[in-house]
Amino acid sequence: MTQGPRPYNFSAGPAAMPEAVLQRAASDMLDWQGSGMSVMEMSHRGKEFGAICSQAEADIRTLLAVPAHFHILFMQGGGLGENAIVPMNLSRGAGADFVITGSWSAKSQKEAQRYCKANVAASNADSQHTRLPDPATWQLARDASYVHICSNETIHGIEFQELPDLAALGSDAPLVIDFSSHVASRPVDWRRVGLAFGGAQKNLGPAGLTIVIVRDDLLGRALDICPTAFNYKTVAENKSMYNTPPTWGIYVAGLTFQWLLQQTEGELRGVEAMEQRNIAKAQLLYGFIDASSFYENKVAANCRSRMNVPFFLKDESRNEAFLAGAREAGLLQLKGHKSVGGMRASIYNAMPLAGVQALVSYMREFERSHA
Ligand code: PMP
Repeated sequence: MTQGPRPYNFSAGPAAMPEAVLQRAASDMLDWQGSGMSVMEMSHRGKEFGAICSQAEADIRTLLAVPAHFHILFMQGGGLGENAIVPMNLSRGAGADFVITGSWSAKSQKEAQRYCKANVAASNADSQHTRLPDPATWQLARDASYVHICSNETIHGIEFQELPDLAALGSDAPLVIDFSSHVASRPVDWRRVGLAFGGAQKNLGPAGLTIVIVRDDLLGRALDICPTAFNYKTVAENKSMYNTPPTWGIYVAGLTFQWLLQQTEGELRGVEAMEQRNIAKAQLLYGFIDASSFYENKVAANCRSRMNVPFFLKDESRNEAFLAGAREAGLLQLKGHKSVGGMRASIYNAMPLAGVQALVSYMREFERSHA
């Protein structure tokens, strides 16, 4: 099959994948490495899939520089599933603290209430989720079993540029981060993290795989009501094979980890290289928006997401024309989330700088012809 260049896809997730990964998965589709089987047809307990899974785990460990005292779990249930699974595993019947910075952390706090006392330690709702509450103002409970943040709010386009240092805030609770929408876009400071979770479908692979990275000492605390298949200790002890894992998702994410490990920018490799590219893409897009009087982004400059860029046409009556023209120009899925409106460009790792350049050219031309 011959194909022309593919359109640039700005979906928030499931999102664009590196083309090389899609091609590799396509060429392996009917017969993975001479095994006579598609990866989808393999027993998860066979030697072929065993090799795929342990390679994927080793590669994400290298990619994200995950220390040895953290377990990497391949699970199912997505970010929203983790909103219940985390409190069932970590709360021990005590309270947990939540920092609300947008829709996803708000959902996490609401769901956790079903399993534990879920305190709101801080919220930026009064700014319509456009700035981050200063960690110095967080009301952390002394006995919190963990502190939850969403380190990148996909809908509101807010990102922690640095993870909070809970110890410096006088808390010894583990920090839980929902890194669904910026995992592998920048390094993670594991010294500050107890547990990280995220669905794969934005930066790592297809929907259906959930990645949980959890510090060793946090295993074995699950409430009795926690389903065995979602007990982190059980999952860790069975190397993510207590029940059938999402084999296809692990395989494609594994190809993505290898692709990411191969990326370079000057001396930098892997996630450090991706971070430089992501900074360049974000600077180009925000710089253009800020310089224009036709478009705007409302998020405070110090916490703008490098991955999800919500923006508005000041004249919203032009929205439909903007989206139709974008589709025609090969720029897909730019419509903003319904709760925020306007537009959103998600520019994950798989989006090349050329895609953001094409978007900015289109925006400039649309402004010229409609201002
Ligand atoms: N957290 C964040 C930050 C997200 O962006 C999303 C999905 N958009 C979720 C959680 C929910 O994930 P899932 O749909 O995989 O349950």
